[in-house]
Amino acid sequence: MFDTLSDRLSGIFTKLRGKGRLTDADIDATAREIRLALLEADVALPVVKGFIARVKERARGAEVSQALNPAQQIVKIVNEELVNVLGGEARRLQLAKQPPTVIMLAGLQGSGKTTLAGKLASWLRGQGHQPLLVAADLQRPNAVGQLQVLGGRAGVEVYSPEPGNGVGDPVQVARASIEHARRAARDIVIVDTAGRLGIDAEMMQQAADIRDAVNPDEVIFVIDAMVGQDAVRTAEAFRDGVGITGVVLSKLDGDARGGAALSVREVTGQPILFASTGEKLEDFDVFHPDRMASRILG
Ligand code: GDP
Repeated sequence: MFDTLSDRLSGIFTKLRGKGRLTDADIDATAREIRLALLEADVALPVVKGFIARVKERARGAEVSQALNPAQQIVKIVNEELVNVLGGEARRLQLAKQPPTVIMLAGLQGSGKTTLAGKLASWLRGQGHQPLLVAADLQRPNAVGQLQVLGGRAGVEVYSPEPGNGVGDPVQVARASIEHARRAARDIVIVDTAGRLGIDAEMMQQAADIRDAVNPDEVIFVIDAMVGQDAVRTAEAFRDGVGITGVVLSKLDGDARGGAALSVREVTGQPILFASTGEKLEDFDVFHPDRMASRILG
């Protein structure tokens, strides 16, 4: 992930090394190159525009610092703006004052929702919580079975439809799961929902119905970091159709160009909460904007 972008940026910064003072022309040329590097990494155009405008403005107004040469100053500004575009500070999960906290997962099919449900449950259990996994993805064949396997590995109970208990109706399953969580003293409920391969009005409506049935504290949009420019359209559709409170980037272990990761925060207006970096339960961590920015800058 980000290899090409990292290489491009470090090439741009190398050219500035040894320069005494940056003229406006130097700054413009550098900004143009950074712009291209971001666009080639599939970062959404409006995000790139804002980013470049801020870098330029700050570079022109930069105080002449004794400690940093001009090249270092640019690196510092770009680093700070990357942290910004990734969301600034890490944001923790919002827990309900009155348990159970309800976390609903939404996203396209194949984005990594079910895998994330298992990872999140395992991680929360490690933090001393008593989570409940809810299989409300009744669309994809074997999504329920997959969640049961993950729940088994994580040591977390999976609530799934049973005959007479809302088979075929994910809204009913989701609603009943909250009651079950109360009775079984589970303090966090993670509801896995169905996705489709593309954005689809029926799927959005179902996700909105589940949302209304469980009144979630967090609606987490799971996005496959490999998807490139499509990420923006998908993120906007979920933002408008379901209303999301946070984002998880999945498949950050892939060799994608990274555009989705850099765009999604600004496009959705919601923070990136976690990063998923593989197929195993432990390939998962809290998302730290500053660490990600440092990784990009190498
Ligand atoms: P869902 O349809 O949104 O529930 O997606 P799944 O959780 O079933 O994931 C789709 C595929 O992506 C599965 O083969 C997962 O093993 C794989 N997957 C999920 N998360 C990651 C990740 O972070 N990295 C990698 N490399 N693969 C992942």
